[in-house]
Amino acid sequence: MAKRNIGTSCVQGGYRPGNGEPRQIPIIQSTTFKYDTGEAMGKLFDLEASGYFYSRLQNPTADTVAAKICELEGGTAAMLTSSGQAANFLAIFNLCGAGDHFISCASIYGGTFNLFSVTMKRMGIDVTFVSPDATEEELQAAVRPETKAVFGETIANPALKVLDIERFAGFSHKNGLPLIVDNTFPTPVNCRPIEWGADIVTHSTTKYMDGHGSAVGGAIVDSGKFDWTRYPERFAGLCTPDESYHGITYTERFGLAGAFITKATAQLMRDLGVTPAPMSAYLLNLGLESLHVRMKRHSESAVKIAEYLEKHEKISWVCCPSLPSCKDYALAQKYLPNGSCGVISFGVKGGRAAAGAFMEKLQLVAIETHVADARSCCLHPATTTHRQLSDAELVACGVSPDLVRLSVGLEDAEDLIADLEQALAQV
Ligand SMILES: *Cc1c(COP(=O)(O)O)cnc(C)c1O
Repeated sequence: MAKRNIGTSCVQGGYRPGNGEPRQIPIIQSTTFKYDTGEAMGKLFDLEASGYFYSRLQNPTADTVAAKICELEGGTAAMLTSSGQAANFLAIFNLCGAGDHFISCASIYGGTFNLFSVTMKRMGIDVTFVSPDATEEELQAAVRPETKAVFGETIANPALKVLDIERFAGFSHKNGLPLIVDNTFPTPVNCRPIEWGADIVTHSTTKYMDGHGSAVGGAIVDSGKFDWTRYPERFAGLCTPDESYHGITYTERFGLAGAFITKATAQLMRDLGVTPAPMSAYLLNLGLESLHVRMKRHSESAVKIAEYLEKHEKISWVCCPSLPSCKDYALAQKYLPNGSCGVISFGVKGGRAAAGAFMEKLQLVAIETHVADARSCCLHPATTTHRQLSDAELVACGVSPDLVRLSVGLEDAEDLIADLEQALAQV
């Protein structure tokens, strides 16, 4: 069949029912699966046959949805996880162990920053943070003999920095390293990092993919393009026998297309169990069916609202990657020509106090730590998530005291603008 367009994959990808089978994906709410002989089941345990035996490792509903996300991103294999945090953890931990090191962009989601800088450090895995604007020399200076991967976000949450994926892929590959890109904010509807050289793509599906604030989840997609076997010592976990599976070697048995995801499932899901519930996978699929329609609306409304705010006398600055006034406009034009996402940020004149007062007057837009939902929401980091920091400390971590993050939902943009208008009038 001819290559499908993205909207068709959103609706029908991953699942093709046979004659008389359910049109919607079945929810296989079963922890376990039945076999006629112990021998048949033993083959599954040895990875000699593929099939389901215990939902901590794999579940058919989750796999159906993973196959859709795989198709959307243009990968060769994919898996769902219980959260975006779990997806980024597994993606790195599948390559790094104690004593290893990886490089990450500094402007990333706060939860991921903490995972990398605190929790993974406690496991003996070291990280070096680099600026997404770092020069080639600065990037090169971060590479060590024990470096295993490079990580960044296509559009950073909440800084809204756009990653120069092609440049980071070139740097990574020159050093024999895979580039892992968290593509949560644009989703594959607005950007497909694999087409620009990314090797592994991760998601917090909790955001736009689910899109309705219903289910926490994550996903990992492998492009199948990174040749682990060129660096068998660096990627020993993929290229040498796994004694916990009777000595199979993932790259030999599953090829480049399947080695990474099979290892993450067979070892890490088996041992860590960060698996999604079948019902959560089903809810995620409902969201995915309209992802292409929703992303267009989110992105267009965000631009309309950013343009309105730019002209408002009480607003000091606006950041929306799709607007020419944004520092990353050129990168957004290259990587996100059809729109970036629904999240924008802006400053209210009068700083911390004015921003807080403005938000309390909003009626349609709710104050939440969430983003990327059908319902518009906003957050003032200086008085909530970052309230313990002084103004100077805030600026140092890229969050100005007046910054309001607005996640533009699917309501009519005119109504959202009216809400912003009445709130600004009261500041
Ligand atoms: C929210 C988020 C995460 C974490 O995902 P959870 O589903 O909340 O665990 C990771 N990366 C980005 C870019 C996010 O926005």
